Amino acid sequence: MSKKNCFDCNNHFEENEGKMLILNNGDKLIWHFYCFACLKNWSIRALKAKGLSDEEIQKTTYKNKITK
Ligand SMILES: [Zn+2]
Repeated sequence: MSKKNCFDCNNHFEENEGKMLILNNGDKLIWHFYCFACLKNWSIRALKAKGLSDEEIQKTTYKNKITK
């Protein structure tokens, strides 16, 4: 029943294989489902946009993994 479409890669996932995110679209808030792989790519892209090097990103994502 609860198959979701990843908004980014457009594949189907179970609800527990991803996360709902609220995006601000003008004056509206929209919920989108993202699978974990896309969420990860997304955070890496965000870190790159902040000017972090690949090495720093590796460290950050690794840190997130072990503190979790
Ligand atoms: Zn995806």
